[in-house]
Amino acid sequence: MALIKSQPATLLEVMEHHIQFTENGIAVFDAEDRFIFHNQAFDCIFGLDASAMEGWTQDDWLTWMYVHRGGVNIEWDSLESWLAYVHSVSRSKPFRRFETDLMDGRWLLVSEQTYPSGHLVLHFADITLQKKTEMELKEAIAKIEHIAQTDELTNLPNRRHILSRFHEELLRAARYKHEFCFGILDIDHFKLVNDKYGHPAGDEVLRHFSKFLRDHLRSQDIVGRVGGEEFAILFPETKLDDALLVLSRINETLRKERLGQIAPDFSYSFSGGLVSSEPDLMEDCTLLMAKADKALYQAKNGGRNRVLRYQDDSLISIP
Ligand code: GH3
Ligand code: MG
Ligand code: MG
Repeated sequence: MALIKSQPATLLEVMEHHIQFTENGIAVFDAEDRFIFHNQAFDCIFGLDASAMEGWTQDDWLTWMYVHRGGVNIEWDSLESWLAYVHSVSRSKPFRRFETDLMDGRWLLVSEQTYPSGHLVLHFADITLQKKTEMELKEAIAKIEHIAQTDELTNLPNRRHILSRFHEELLRAARYKHEFCFGILDIDHFKLVNDKYGHPAGDEVLRHFSKFLRDHLRSQDIVGRVGGEEFAILFPETKLDDALLVLSRINETLRKERLGQIAPDFSYSFSGGLVSSEPDLMEDCTLLMAKADKALYQAKNGGRNRVLRYQDDSLISIP
């Protein structure tokens, strides 16, 4: 390991000086994976004592990190599997680049260059700052996505989100020839709740209904708020009779609920329209929504507090 003592003059000297004193870690191995060079930054990044590394191979270094829980954050649960993994990827291509995190939270961009002679050069650049920014950006995007997809009052998927899910489920149902149901629910005489108890009480009822639906629907059913007191439910891979049974059960249970915080003995009901997508029919969301709306309209006209299904242009009532 030659050390440059004077000012570098030739390109070779500049490069030699560079690999020794750059802040990027550099390690060079021979064809038998023995260290033939490692610079100060390499020792510093991995917390290694250069004098103790005499005669080390790459495996000695990997083992040291595993045993001392130092350097790379190793997620393998045994030394053998960690070594086997590194052996399977190391030298697998003339050039590889990957990111890795360290036990102390820093991140490195690692470049691995393998030469025809069998020499291997590892280069480590600290990308902790960029990685932090990237992670903050990812978190911010996830937050923005959540906000863009969520109804603020009820925390349910909003209209845009539920309609996009509707579209996805419809395509899936058509592809796999599954039956799929869509329902629209609307709280009855909701305007009266606002008028009689105030807007905040109305909001409370909306939150209650949202939680009630989530608690009483199956986990695979998707519910969202599509308008003021209007909610949409997607029943993936569900036959119309089964969706009717679910809504019938929910309808009956809600009637027994009492919201003491609004007024003693306060209760409310909803009306609903339900439609199923036949796997063989290429129907779109707009058409199915119109059909569910039509059934809902009939439910309201028929006295509310009920769910009607739309099927073959005829409406069938459930209790
Ligand atoms: P129907 O049984 O025919 O559905 O009658 P309704 O009173 O429920 O329906 P209508 O369309 O006449 O009234 C809906 C009301 O919902 C009017 C509107 O002020 C209220 N509303 C819409 N969004 C909100 C909201 O976010 N919070 C509250 N408190 N009220 C809302
Ligand atoms: Mg209503
Ligand atoms: Mg309405």
